[in-house]
Amino acid sequence: MLVENLKSADISQGVNVIGPVLVLSVYGLLGFNCYMYFCCYLPILYVSKVPYFPLSSPDSHIFGVSQSMILTIIFFILLFNIVFNYTMTWLISPGKLQEFYDARDKEHHENPNYELKKNRPTNAIVNKDLKACMRHTKKTIDYIDDDWIIRCHKCKFLDNHDEETGINKVPAKPLRFHHCSVCRNCVVNMDHHCPWVNNCLGLKNLRYFLLFIFYLPVSNIFIGMIMWHVRSHPYYKNFPMCSQVMIGVHVGIFIAMSFFNCWQWYLCLKGIPQIEYLQSMEGEVNEGKTYGFPSICDNIYVTFGTKNIFKVFLPSLRSQPLEGLEWTMEEVINKKKIMETHERVMRIIEETNEAQDVEINWL
Ligand SMILES: [Zn+2]
Ligand SMILES: [Zn+2]
Repeated sequence: MLVENLKSADISQGVNVIGPVLVLSVYGLLGFNCYMYFCCYLPILYVSKVPYFPLSSPDSHIFGVSQSMILTIIFFILLFNIVFNYTMTWLISPGKLQEFYDARDKEHHENPNYELKKNRPTNAIVNKDLKACMRHTKKTIDYIDDDWIIRCHKCKFLDNHDEETGINKVPAKPLRFHHCSVCRNCVVNMDHHCPWVNNCLGLKNLRYFLLFIFYLPVSNIFIGMIMWHVRSHPYYKNFPMCSQVMIGVHVGIFIAMSFFNCWQWYLCLKGIPQIEYLQSMEGEVNEGKTYGFPSICDNIYVTFGTKNIFKVFLPSLRSQPLEGLEWTMEEVINKKKIMETHERVMRIIEETNEAQDVEINWL
């Protein structure tokens, strides 16, 4: 057990160290692609023959100024979307439990349901899209008291030491917060911790990540097509291996990212973070049920803050309508099952507390 804990601590520390290096390397690769486009491809595109390319004139098969400009504008649009979404993914907090408590009166953290219900928007002041989402919450709102039973023993951000009893209280958390051992915090709707962005992916930053992984393969195929058409130029004929390897790298990334996109966007449309999907597959959470909204439109709205499919793909700083406390179930939960879960979790908490007491006494 101790060896396992040490190993997971080592892995978390390793991911923490390697994260900034990977982030810098992504910016380095983007810079390298800019250099290649402006110094190696664009001059050749402008003057050389490039047959069969859709944008080239069928008469001359030579790129003119206008076609080169169109390609350069497309390049800039793709580059901006990649850099913007990538930067926002690592810059924006995914939605940590600590911030969740900070946003509320800390004195009430012992009774979070009070604050939760008091702060819940009423139908009179919310827009119609949010109203549409809220209709799903009605069937689970009565059970929210029970869903705050989960407490995280690993989060250390609250000063919860009770002077009178000498007991360290453990912060309660909503059902859809999951603990990340790298960030050492619970994250709302946590998908996974991505070392490539050195951040967790949660409710607040998942949309930027989804757009980053969407625009990445699009730009790979764009650059790959350009390279395919400039490879016959005398300059590249001197380095046949080099251009072939570069095309291979772009095609490889395109294929890998396409599969990854399908998986991530499928989960987004279903409204299920990766962790909850895995838990539901293992039957750990509510006997295989998940918490996504039944409508794809509602799930898009929760993640992107809009239902307009064109606005989804545009760079934006709009905020999300929900906090991650709202969910639905595939069927109405029956109270008996909730109580059984409650008793099971309380038993686990008691056992953990006893184990911790023994550990502390021993030390
Ligand atoms: Zn935690
Ligand atoms: Zn994390």
